[in-house]
Amino acid sequence: AADLERVTGLLRDVPDFPSPGIRFWDLSALLADGGGLAATTRLLASAADDADVVVGIEARGFLLGAAVAHALGVGVVAVRKQGKLPMVAATRSYDLEYGSATLELPAEVLRPGARALLVDDVLATGGTAAAAAELVEGAGAQVAAVAVVLELPALHGRERLDGHPVHALLAR
Ligand code: IMP
Repeated sequence: AADLERVTGLLRDVPDFPSPGIRFWDLSALLADGGGLAATTRLLASAADDADVVVGIEARGFLLGAAVAHALGVGVVAVRKQGKLPMVAATRSYDLEYGSATLELPAEVLRPGARALLVDDVLATGGTAAAAAELVEGAGAQVAAVAVVLELPALHGRERLDGHPVHALLAR
């Protein structure tokens, strides 16, 4: 309960970013606070304490994912935006409100059969997490859970995640 209060107190929302009418949740202050980062890490790690590996989604999922992996004593795999990885296992595109985005899984790092804990900062429409989950499963690994700091339930992201357990610290 103390951990959750700390996380809640450090989360900020910014109106009209990145465009008018959009409310952007900003985790910068939470990540910058030692106690806040530690609390967030503990809470996210509890989503799947039997995970074999953490998969962090670019970019804030990298920061959180590495901390969670370290807490669990496992490694971290970075799912990246297209064009960053020299060796790619698989590519997955998904629709955004305007246009599309593409994520890539690095080659030869995710062991088939591994139980992966997916980590990102915010679950909105679920397109990003769903694409990452499909990459994980395409490599023959399992999605143990999807862990995020914040879920925006009005956008129904959970429904796109094929019944994978979603562990959100907060919902707004
Ligand atoms: P989705 O694919 O619509 O679920 O959007 C989730 C992705 O967009 C995540 O990788 C987030 O980092 C980012 N995102 C969406 N909304 C916010 C927000 O309010 N604050 C920070 N990141 C966001």
